[in-house]
Amino acid sequence: MSNIRFEALKTAFGNKPVEVNEPEGKVKDYFARDVFTREKMKEYISQDVLEQLWDDVDNGRTIHRDIAGVVAIGIRKWAIEQGATHFTHWFQPLTGGTAEKHDAFFTLDKHGALMEEFSGEALYQQEPDASSFPSGGIRNTFEARGYSAWDPSSPVFLIGDTLCIPTIFVAYTGEALDYKTPLIRSTAALCHAAREVCAYFDKQVKHVHANLGWEQEYFLVDEALYNARPDLMLTGRTLMGHNSAKSQQLEDHYFGAIPARVLAFMRELEYEALKAGIPVRTRHNEVAPNQFEMAPIYEDVNLANDHNLLIMSIMERVAEKHHFRVLLHEKPYAGVNGSGKHCNWSLQTNTGVNLLAPGKNPYQNLQFITFLVNVLMAVQRHNGLLKASIVSATNEHRLGANEAPPAIISVFLGKQISAVLDKLEHAKAEEAIIINAKKEMKLGVANIPEILLDNTDRNRTSPFAFTGNRFEFRAVGSSANCGAAMLALNAAVAEQLMIFKEEVDKRIEKGEAKERVLFEVIKKYIVACKSIRFDGNGYSSEWKEEAAQRGLDCETSVPLVIDRYLAPSSIEMFGRTGVLSEAELHSRSEVKWETYVKKVQIESRVMGDLVVNHVLPAAKRYQTMLLQNVLAVKQVFSADETASLNEMDYSIIRQIESHSGAILDGVERMTAARHKANRQPDERSKAIAYHDTVLPLMAEIREHADELEMIVDDELWTLVKYRELQFVH
Ligand code: ADP
Ligand code: MG
Repeated sequence: MSNIRFEALKTAFGNKPVEVNEPEGKVKDYFARDVFTREKMKEYISQDVLEQLWDDVDNGRTIHRDIAGVVAIGIRKWAIEQGATHFTHWFQPLTGGTAEKHDAFFTLDKHGALMEEFSGEALYQQEPDASSFPSGGIRNTFEARGYSAWDPSSPVFLIGDTLCIPTIFVAYTGEALDYKTPLIRSTAALCHAAREVCAYFDKQVKHVHANLGWEQEYFLVDEALYNARPDLMLTGRTLMGHNSAKSQQLEDHYFGAIPARVLAFMRELEYEALKAGIPVRTRHNEVAPNQFEMAPIYEDVNLANDHNLLIMSIMERVAEKHHFRVLLHEKPYAGVNGSGKHCNWSLQTNTGVNLLAPGKNPYQNLQFITFLVNVLMAVQRHNGLLKASIVSATNEHRLGANEAPPAIISVFLGKQISAVLDKLEHAKAEEAIIINAKKEMKLGVANIPEILLDNTDRNRTSPFAFTGNRFEFRAVGSSANCGAAMLALNAAVAEQLMIFKEEVDKRIEKGEAKERVLFEVIKKYIVACKSIRFDGNGYSSEWKEEAAQRGLDCETSVPLVIDRYLAPSSIEMFGRTGVLSEAELHSRSEVKWETYVKKVQIESRVMGDLVVNHVLPAAKRYQTMLLQNVLAVKQVFSADETASLNEMDYSIIRQIESHSGAILDGVERMTAARHKANRQPDERSKAIAYHDTVLPLMAEIREHADELEMIVDDELWTLVKYRELQFVH
């Protein structure tokens, strides 16, 4: 009898490093080779058209159709010269990932003559078959189809023979059906609000933009082993599996050398990423076995997010070539670290100032403190919403477990910044701000030491940490479209800056001095935002209690956390900033609940199949062997002797019997719970039922299955084990 696990292991051990598609020349020779950059556009499109285009793009105006028509001709020429035959509108549906609809550049007309398909119209707007993408009821409500439209702020690029056009995806009535649309709206709102606040400090500031530097964590697993684990294939995570005796205790993987096969994969991945214009920079092992990380240099948040989505698909493609599968799931294995996608976020002016970095002069420092404190206020007011922006059926298993941020949003500032805020809180305006005869400002107490910039004061347990010149939102999941988190953060901060400006302006209009008003309002905020600041251990049970006392959102059930999108404060904030309408918020929550239900439903079914088809048969077989052995022993030995001889066998036989019985019983109850959940009247109730009744049964079944794995003869076990998934490469 063949055992699929051993077959898979044999194949996996046979897999040697695959030859890398070697880079040609230096990085600068191939960086962004597959991207129609502004530099290349100059060769294909006339200068006056480009000037108009870029002016519109940089100021967030709609592109005129005539301009799009001319640009389209240039794009097509470049793409065809590179060997492209097809084009696609590349968009970001609410299901996650990206979607594409491919069309050829040419078709034949009815006389069989070659006809160009790609006009300005095709660049500008397309109608993907939207019915298959979730809209959370928007299309039903508005009886309209969706269309995708070019986002000219993100350059077009090639994947193989296909020209990819980054697009937004919206209903005909204008409602967003994707992540990109509200992300763009949120950056517009944020940049406007931030510029207005900058005007207090520096009138030269014309633009502010948000930066994002993501750190993508992932696991690699040999493809043969992956294919022998139906749960990994169908759900992206292992639904059972006993911890390996050696896992991450020694943390040796973190410091260890990268294995040859993995290195070959990484080299090719980097080459592909760089050709696609993604400025990847770091590669290293992560803490868990077979876990790695990749991070680029930060970029404008919209482009950075496109690049993150692109890298996720490039990773999958390159991994397949190297006979690996990349696991982007937040928690592929229980008991070891999960994967996140730390989102490093900052605000930058067109004058080159990072608004979240301590400045060189008192004005810049007061400006820095202003933005820092307003971010704290925004995160405090919307901590529940920010959590909603990162939760999912997959991230649920990571939050609050091994080295992952807890399911309570708080902000880590570190000793130095905390000290500065504490000092300001207790200072009087007169001693804090000294304005001399030359109208120069001096900050008495807010002087911030340079040393901050290489801030090494780190706290891994914080979901949202200040790291010297940026905030790092760490609760974001590795498989997520980080646009969801970024748009919530951008919008919340935009709203807060609007509130701040209103308050300050009102007092300045009454004749109060600007510096004093700024100082006093900031001081008031420092007191008001105390409950979001937490530098302690986020894993401790004391923190959970304290956070609840502070009034922070401590809900852990994903379906209930999703409710935060519909909290009055969220609806008002998204409405005021123009990022998402109430109808859009309803549709988004609906999609989130629906996706949650589907994911848990699939997992539960796969689990049922696995225990019935793999775990129980292996257990039965081993039990039968033991029973036969008992009988044989009885025939050979005397009754006195067999009593002690059989003791151990009996005990194992009984354990197998009891775990198997518990599994069968659990599967029955799980199936019943599923059926009951499916009968709930709406997606929210279904999601709650899946969370409250199906998930706990899955955990219960798993426990028994994992016990059986430890008992049953290794030769009979058919599911690839954790130690093999994690250590074979
Ligand atoms: P870590 O110590 O957290 O692993 P890295 O040096 O790997 O930090 O950088 C993490 C990410 O932070 C990178 O993508 C980097 O480009 C980004 N980053 C650095 N400075 C900023 C900034 N001012 N704004 C946004 N992202 C930044
Ligand atoms: Mg980091």
